[in-house]
Amino acid sequence: MVRRAYIERVRDGDVSLREACDAERDLLRAARHYGTLRRTPCPLCAKESLRNVTYLFGPRLPKSGRCITSSSELREFDRRTEHYTAYTVEVCTECEWHHLLTAVPHGGARPRVRRRA
Ligand SMILES: [Zn+2]
Repeated sequence: MVRRAYIERVRDGDVSLREACDAERDLLRAARHYGTLRRTPCPLCAKESLRNVTYLFGPRLPKSGRCITSSSELREFDRRTEHYTAYTVEVCTECEWHHLLTAVPHGGARPRVRRRA
């Protein structure tokens, strides 16, 4: 919903295209190398160059987040007791449009309790 409104604002010239397309260099690089190609065209430039990139934030991870390259990597974090958040961003490698899609909690596994025999 928010996304649609935002795209309309860009189309109306309310938000400059440059402002909307300021994807940071590393985000673009991550999208090119690790991004999952989407089947839907970019909402701005209509080219089929949309990719989803996931960054994980949490304890002992870089401040800028860790780029997740496989789902098994995420499952590994799910086994930890610490709490993490995975942000999935759609990035257009053509016009550099990017938008946060989801923020999903990971980790927080219950610590193993030793049972008495
Ligand atoms: Zn685009």
